[in-house]
Formats: sequence, structure tokens, C-alpha cells
Amino acid sequence: MQDKRPMKFITFTWGCQMNDHDSEVIRALLEQRGLVWTEDIEEADVIVLNTCSVRKSAEQKVMSFLGKLKHLKESRPDVVVAVGGCMTQNQEISDQLRKSGHVNIIFGARSFHRLPSLISSYERTGNQVVETDLEEQPPSGALPAHRDSRIKAYVTIMYGCDNFCSYCVVPYARGRERSRGSASVLAEARRIADLGYTEIQLLGQNVNSYRDPEGKRSFAELLAAVGEVAGIRRVRFMTSHPRDFTREIVQAIDAVPTLCDHVHLPVQSGSSRILQLMNRGYTREDYLERVSWIKAARRPIALSTDIIVGFPGETPSDFNATMELLAQVEYDSLFGYKYSSRPDTPASTMADSVSESEKAARLQVLLDRQRESQRISYSKQLGQILEVMVEGVNPAREQIIGRSSQNKPVNFTCAQPITPAPGSYLQVKITATHPNSLAGEAV
Ligand code: SF4
Repeated sequence: MQDKRPMKFITFTWGCQMNDHDSEVIRALLEQRGLVWTEDIEEADVIVLNTCSVRKSAEQKVMSFLGKLKHLKESRPDVVVAVGGCMTQNQEISDQLRKSGHVNIIFGARSFHRLPSLISSYERTGNQVVETDLEEQPPSGALPAHRDSRIKAYVTIMYGCDNFCSYCVVPYARGRERSRGSASVLAEARRIADLGYTEIQLLGQNVNSYRDPEGKRSFAELLAAVGEVAGIRRVRFMTSHPRDFTREIVQAIDAVPTLCDHVHLPVQSGSSRILQLMNRGYTREDYLERVSWIKAARRPIALSTDIIVGFPGETPSDFNATMELLAQVEYDSLFGYKYSSRPDTPASTMADSVSESEKAARLQVLLDRQRESQRISYSKQLGQILEVMVEGVNPAREQIIGRSSQNKPVNFTCAQPITPAPGSYLQVKITATHPNSLAGEAV
């Protein structure tokens, strides 16, 4: 291989926050092995791709990037290309990667923490290394992480998903649910607070089905305990599943001031018939009951969701049921997606009956309606004084960028001579509202 200088590496990440955090762990582990991070792909000896396959578009982005790497390898054959994440768990794609001739290491979504040893074994043998065993148990303890943010830290509390929603690849790509011990999660939260972080985001494909292997804490109790860690001022969690969402979680938010006023509760559809075809495990009525718990909370908890339009068999009246649910719930924010058939999922055997143009039309109607909801929900905050965590500055607008506990972006001015540092908290009076952000002045 190369001369004695330390090897340089670069990582590219697609997909969700769990992938972002897995890449933070990969970076820390490779740095512990003496490799040096670089932002410049031309000087990298090791190129790591952490992939996503939740939608076809995500895979296409990775495949076209891999195409470019093929040319790079022709001019620099010694470069080590390692591809990991959810795409590698799909047999057809994994076969393509094995035969590609320019991918040296293929590692699964449960083996990211073993990349350093996989690189060593490739260096030793020069043979392609493949490690995609989903039975691999991710480490129960905390892993080191070179965190991208200096102000908020991700903490993975569980891996995998057992829900098998009919359209989703995650259970096949990330394996069975495995929760970390609550003591290990709390120890990691304390270390993060000692490093000066004040915001923690708990991560899992479905954090509500957290099951403490030590049998000590429910998810709501773990949430509250993390919220009581000295130095932590904000705790968020992602992603919840309505079937496993409990009143205790709302009561914990009401009781523990550091738990943020925001819940992300993906509904996916407002039609119980479609929810059944999606194997979501709850009806429209069940979902609205959870919403009523959140709306009845003492604190003003903001609610966001995910919705898929154009699921196989979705009729205009199913879609209307989704639109009626939007009007009933009035979400603070929403992520809308067109149904994308995923290989080897039960839904992929259903007739993809809604045309692409109809999917696009429904998505537009959904987003236009949501924009109106958001304009109203944001306008309700006019004149309020909110605590905002500073995330950075927008020099062009001479504004400070921050976020409220409800996870709303707040752009504001500050009379103080010194620009407040990222991670600091200010009281901000809201003087103007927009569909996607609030504006104000520090008080
Ligand atoms: S809960 Fe459903 S949609 Fe979410 S990761 Fe699990 S299987 Fe996928």
C-alpha cells in the first residue's frame, strides 16, 4: 500500500439521522486507528459510503456516485472503497457491489463499528471483504463519535425495527430491534454533558418500542432520566411509532422541563384501509387518540408527521381521508413522500396502481394544504417570547439563526455587541412569522 504517512479517509453519508450518527462513529473509530480525516476526496486513501435505501431515489444517488468512483479507481487503484449502510443488505445490490471490481469492502448496517478491522483484513489479504450479517449484535455500550455538531449530540438508544410496515426496507436492512441498556445510555448522556453539549437527540427507528434489557426503565422513564442529566437543557427523540406511543411520554414532557415541546409522530395515511395495507398496526381513530393526548398536554407540544401519498390501491377517497386528517390535526410541520416501491417488501407485490403524475398531484395538494396549516400555527406565536438555542449566524441578513423548543427555526436580531455563540440560549420576542420560520429580536 501507500508510504508510511498516516492514511487519509473521507466519508459520504445518505439517509436518516441514524446513518449520520453511524458515520460519526465510523469517523471516530478510524481516527482512533490513526487514520486522518480529509474533506478532499483526491487525497483520500479510504473512501467510505454510508448508504440509504428507504427510497429508489436515494439508491440512484449512491449508484451514480459509485460510477464516478470507478473512474477515480482507474487513476488511483490503491484507493480503498468501502460501501456500507442499508443498501448493502439488499442481495441484488450487494451482488452488484461484489462484482463491480472497484468496491473493496462491503459492510452492513449492523457492522459499521467493525470497519477498522475490515480495512485491516483487506490490507492484509488484498481480497474483497464482505460483512453484512444482520445477526451481528451492535455494541450495547456507547461507541466513540466524532460529532458533526458542536451543540447537539445524537445518542442511539436502539437498533433495528420489528414493525415490518409493508412498504419499508428498514427491518430487512437494519435487522431486529435491539435496545441499549438504560445505564449505558445515561452514562453516554453524562459524558456528552461533560463535553459541554446541552442538547441531546435520542435515536432509534422506533424509539417508543425501546425495551431496557436491564428492565429498569420504560422509554418515557429513560427520556425523563436523560432530561435530568446535569447540564442538559434540551432532549429530543426520533422516530416514534403511533402504535407504541404512550400517555407516559406526554406526561414525561409535561413533567420534565428539558424535554422539548415537539413530537414527530409519522401517520403515513389518514385512511384506516390504507393503514391496514401498510401494516402500520393502528387505525385512524387510534392515531387521533394519540394526537388528543398530545393536544391535551399542559405544555404547547408541536406535532410533525410523515405522510406517503399514492400507496398501492390508494383511492381518491383514501387520499381525502388523509387531507381531512390534516385539517383535523393541523400539524406544525410535515414530510410528504410519493410511494416508492422497495424490493422484497410485501407492498412491492401489490399493484402500484397510482400513476406517477397522480402521486405528484396528490403530494402537491398535501404540501399546499400543509403550508397553510403552518402559516396559521406559526402566526400564533407572534408577540410571544421564546427561548431559542443559537445554531449560527446569517451574515448576509445580519441575523442569528436558532431553534425553539418546538423545533421551529427562529431568525432574529440581537442588540448585544458580541454575537451569541452557537449553543447559547436567548429569549427572543417574535415580531414576524413565515410559513417555515419565525423572526424576532433578542430581549
Ligand atoms: S416503523 Fe415501519 S416505517 Fe418505521 S422503520 Fe419500522 S418498518 Fe420502517
